[in-house]
Amino acid sequence: MGASELSPLLEETFRFRATCSELQSQSLLRERLVLNGRQGRSVNIGTETLLNFCSNDYLGLAADPRLASALKAGVDMYGVGAGASALVCGRSRAHAELEQAVADFTGRDRALLFCSGYMANLALGVSGLVGAGDLVIADRVSHASLIDAARISGARLRRYPHCDHLAAAKLMQTANCRKLVLTDGVFSMDGDLAPVSHLAQAALKSGALLAVDDAHGLGVLGHAGGGMLQAAGINQSSVPVLMGTFGKAVGTAGAFIAGPTEVIEFLCQRARTYMYTTAPPSALAHATRIALDIIAEESGGRTRLADLIAYFHAGAAQLGLPVPLSQTPIQPLLLGSPRQAVTVSAGLRAAGILVMPVRPPTVPAATSRLRITITAAHARADLDRLLQQLACLLGPGH
Ligand code: PMP
Repeated sequence: MGASELSPLLEETFRFRATCSELQSQSLLRERLVLNGRQGRSVNIGTETLLNFCSNDYLGLAADPRLASALKAGVDMYGVGAGASALVCGRSRAHAELEQAVADFTGRDRALLFCSGYMANLALGVSGLVGAGDLVIADRVSHASLIDAARISGARLRRYPHCDHLAAAKLMQTANCRKLVLTDGVFSMDGDLAPVSHLAQAALKSGALLAVDDAHGLGVLGHAGGGMLQAAGINQSSVPVLMGTFGKAVGTAGAFIAGPTEVIEFLCQRARTYMYTTAPPSALAHATRIALDIIAEESGGRTRLADLIAYFHAGAAQLGLPVPLSQTPIQPLLLGSPRQAVTVSAGLRAAGILVMPVRPPTVPAATSRLRITITAAHARADLDRLLQQLACLLGPGH
């Protein structure tokens, strides 16, 4: 950092520089990349071309020419900005059509669009679903946005051990108030699946409202890409609130909550992150609808992914790498300390491979990791390269 323009009093009070220095000394400082061009199997950063194993572009759609054309066509039809919130005059035919498409895609009555998954999840905490005197029950490693929703709601938050549905059920049964249960469907940093059938049974029995964030299952799991609930055959009467994002497998941006008509209408009337923000661009909604059509019609990407995941597991097992066998594109390589994660990430980068380190507070202390993500755009030879480099860097016995 250069010479400071900030008054010493402000630095002393808010510790801007001191905080960043502390993060740096603990190997916790985040450094942002600048990609020169498109997201994809490989990315260009400065003069480097790197094989990319850390995007959420699971189906390789983010730079798909069909979506680029759809976005351009959307701009021609609707212009650029939505100009107002959805409840004033920012909601266009493109938004209405996408809402219907999402409802069909997920097998639910209706859907409501949000500018991001973060805002969709926050909607659960700022819509008056629960408040003071109520209870939010959440998996301990639920996404930050679900935890923030719980905190902002003013309800009491109880977190159960990861995937422990019996502990969750116990919390649901003991409390005699309104209860909201929050979980990722596919856990974002581990790639494992929540025990949603069990949670749904317990929620139905105790009158709790279950919300599943399927940001990482949408497009990837289920016969038509409908997500982890489609894969498990779970419908909206068991899980009334389904959240999904468009910024990952769908390849665009924005998010939705889908569910029974009453729930969606309630959120439309009450969710502050829906009411008090400009609607997302109509062109984006148009492109997203085309992306959902592609995902539903083309199962090739899902088949390729499944093959690549199995191939990676076989290779990782052969090398004895500490990779839990997640059935999703998210393959965490647990390394422990932040420094170790940074070191292995830098080693891969020197060999032309990009996997950013994931450290606290994104993951619990002592579980820093490389969150390797496999996409349908990869080839087996790419995985060979990754595995070979990991074996070199981690050495015998790891
Ligand atoms: N939920 C989960 C599980 C996520 O991983 C993310 C993104 N990291 C979000 C919600 C937020 O979605 P968005 O990027 O659309 O804000």
